[in-house]
Amino acid sequence: MRYDVAVIGGGPSGAVAAAILAKAGLSTVLIERNFDNVKPCGGAIPLGLIEEFKIPAELVEKKLSRMKARSPKGRVIDMNMPNGYVGMVRREKFDRYLRVEAERAGAVVVEGLVKSISHSGEGFVINTLNDKVPPLRASRIIGADGANSKTADELHFPPNELKVIAMQQRFKYTPSIQKFSDIVEIWFDGEVSPDFYGWIFPKADHLAIGTGTEDHKHNIKALQKRFVEKIGITDTPYLDEAAKIPMKPRKSFTQEKAILVGDAAGLVTPANGEGIFFAMRSGKLGALAMIEHLKHGTPLKNYEKEFRKLYAPIFFGLEVLQAAYYRNDRLRESFVAICADDDVQRITFDSYLYKKMIPASWPVQMKIFSKNVYHLIKGS
Ligand SMILES: Cc1cc2nc3c(=O)[nH]c(=O)nc-3n(C[C@H](O)[C@H](O)[C@H](O)COP(=O)(O)OP(=O)(O)OC[C@H]3O[C@@H](n4cnc5c(N)ncnc54)[C@H](O)[C@@H]3O)c2cc1C
Repeated sequence: MRYDVAVIGGGPSGAVAAAILAKAGLSTVLIERNFDNVKPCGGAIPLGLIEEFKIPAELVEKKLSRMKARSPKGRVIDMNMPNGYVGMVRREKFDRYLRVEAERAGAVVVEGLVKSISHSGEGFVINTLNDKVPPLRASRIIGADGANSKTADELHFPPNELKVIAMQQRFKYTPSIQKFSDIVEIWFDGEVSPDFYGWIFPKADHLAIGTGTEDHKHNIKALQKRFVEKIGITDTPYLDEAAKIPMKPRKSFTQEKAILVGDAAGLVTPANGEGIFFAMRSGKLGALAMIEHLKHGTPLKNYEKEFRKLYAPIFFGLEVLQAAYYRNDRLRESFVAICADDDVQRITFDSYLYKKMIPASWPVQMKIFSKNVYHLIKGS
């Protein structure tokens, strides 16, 4: 049998794409290397995503509308989200749920590690390691296989340029850790991360603590150790996990007969490392473009154009923010000070929750600009 579309990778981007394709009546196979995969991830998702993809309440372990931002000197700013919350999901459950949804929609879901892809006639032949799955034929491919995408390599897409390595440890709640169970903490501190940030994310039965740094520049294990020490936790984690975060879209993530979505395409925003929303949105936009392409002959490039039209300003804005404030502790100190402003908090959370850039009024822009200048000069 030849499938209309093979989706490679059964994380959020691939599972969402496969469900949409199958629902539209296209024969679809979703290939996931390991059904028990536990993707290293903080699992923080915005309310807008929960609403759009109708994520069941039981998957959202915590709904957190309070956050603390902490500066290198220990200044703590309380931030509140009156109009929404950050949802905390656990990836092993979340990804499994999305794959079951894809299967329910009619996709064939198979377990196998894709090791090679070759062109064949009008389409492709996909081979898995040790031929765990017999070679699969498909007219089109969606590569959803994460930051180290085999699909991208095999089909010669331009490289994923900027990768951060991130590490996270999970701690069971104990009396000393329980106090972190209701609030998100973000640490901007060079000792914790010289070019990214550290996070404390509470889940239902554990606390996830993690940090990231640009790949190869610093020792991630040493940064993580220092972070846990600075928080004051002496308990032993029950799980250590680490993975790369690709924080820059590839130069191109569309070809004539194949597209990349999610991390495979490099669709994680700079500054905050948010990838689940963009994985699921790109999975959706990619699948919709694929349906139009196969049914009406429109080019797959439309997917990339649409994605960039919607989200390029957000990627650009966050890239500028990271370049401006994450370079040293003096700048980080100013950044946290600016977070105390109510309008800064409102704009930040409105754009986080629904990914809509709502321009602030002129006086508000002027006020924020002046505060920026003040704190940058003062260094606090
Ligand atoms: C430590 C850490 C913390 C993070 N925290 C957050 C957070 O709190 N919020 C947020 O929004 N984002 C976070 N991210 C980013 C987020 O995890 C990713 O952006 C998101 O998982 C991307 O989804 P995806 O479906 O594109 O790729 P992935 O989730 O990586 O899924 C890819 C899938 O493909 C499979 N696969 C890989 N290779 C093959 C192959 N050859 N054959 C078959 N299958 C294959 C994998 O098993 C996997 O299931 C974090 C990342 C890290 C590393």
